[in-house]
Amino acid sequence: MKALSDAIGARRDDLIRLTQDLIRIPTLNPPGQHYHDICAFLEARLAPGGWDCEMVRAKGTPGDCAAYPRWNLIARRRGTRPGDCVHFNSHHDVVEVGAGWTRDPFGGEHDVAQDRIYGRGSCDMKGGLAASIIAAEAFVATCPDFAGRIEISATADEESGGFGGVAYLAERGDFADVQHVIIPEPLHKDRICLGHRGVWWAEIETHGRIAHGSMPFLGDSAIRHMGAVLDEMERTLWPLLAGRHTEMPVIPEGARASTLNVNSIHGGEPDLGPEFTGLPAPCVADRCRITIDRRFLVEEDPAEVKREIAALMERVRERRPGFRYEIRDLFEVAPSMTERDAPVVRTTAAAIERVLGRQAGYVVSPGTYDQKHIDRIGKLKNCIAYGPGVLEMAHQPDEWIGVTDMIDSARVMALVLNDLLGQPGESGRP
Ligand SMILES: [Zn+2]
Repeated sequence: MKALSDAIGARRDDLIRLTQDLIRIPTLNPPGQHYHDICAFLEARLAPGGWDCEMVRAKGTPGDCAAYPRWNLIARRRGTRPGDCVHFNSHHDVVEVGAGWTRDPFGGEHDVAQDRIYGRGSCDMKGGLAASIIAAEAFVATCPDFAGRIEISATADEESGGFGGVAYLAERGDFADVQHVIIPEPLHKDRICLGHRGVWWAEIETHGRIAHGSMPFLGDSAIRHMGAVLDEMERTLWPLLAGRHTEMPVIPEGARASTLNVNSIHGGEPDLGPEFTGLPAPCVADRCRITIDRRFLVEEDPAEVKREIAALMERVRERRPGFRYEIRDLFEVAPSMTERDAPVVRTTAAAIERVLGRQAGYVVSPGTYDQKHIDRIGKLKNCIAYGPGVLEMAHQPDEWIGVTDMIDSARVMALVLNDLLGQPGESGRP
């Protein structure tokens, strides 16, 4: 263990440089910029060290086009004897910069005094990607006759659902012969993320009848109908959801219950934007739409989640003459939670204890991430998110990753490799 720990300590400058280089490739999503550049950069880094690199374009997936092709990279390193495959998956896309920055978002600035590297995507999750690469390289150098196979993937579009990334690779069968998956998302170096809550997005539309705004009694306001829907949610649904608690260790604690957010509301004449300087016209709204974002628990049945909304709409309909509505499904993901005694969980927990001298915490993410595709499409349950970084920093201005946190989590990841591939181990698949 000391040799491995030293090998990672010796790579500190390399880790800093690698993280900076990754941040300096602005892989903004949307629209999906520089995906080829970052995959080519990683290939140039890994191929000379004996990694078989494959670039995969997720053709025909959402957003994929000549201007913004959805490129992914998988690097594979085979051991000298049979064994399991440990796969590190990181997304290479980052979200928009937003306002409020005091540092260059794509400068990769290393603040030595604060022991931090700044930049969009530093925490979520190029720091995690860099840490997993350093961990794998240090392990291979220290234990060249390892068993099985190590894989590192850098994938597209996690921030927009992962369909041009992990979902595409899973459909191709890239996880069929993988036994353990670690996703180095920023969940803190001493915590293991077992999975995530479920999600259902839907659009609800109420219908009315247009009329002159000075004689609203001649029309039927879709906005007033929607007001009744929101009122019903306020009085009956939100209190009910807040009281529905889960055994999942979701963080933050507020997300340890069912939640519903109304993402948007649109009714009446369209929003003509800030350039439009005219006055509105007086009309009764003939339609009103909301999109809802319902997050649910392993204890909840997805069909029941939908029935609950349908029943709410029916209650409103019974009270309101002329009330007409539609519910349209937009997106749905089932909750995912890996068992605590799964091999990758136990091995990582033991490594955290050895490297950091404290017990691992177990958490579940309030929102989904690429584990959903590995679970549902890849049919692999032995998957966790584990990586450096402060979760609350993700998507914020002046996003940063701690260098010591990256080093520590690289030590944990290398130790996991050592435990799973450095000696005869147990398999992650039954
Ligand atoms: Zn992320």
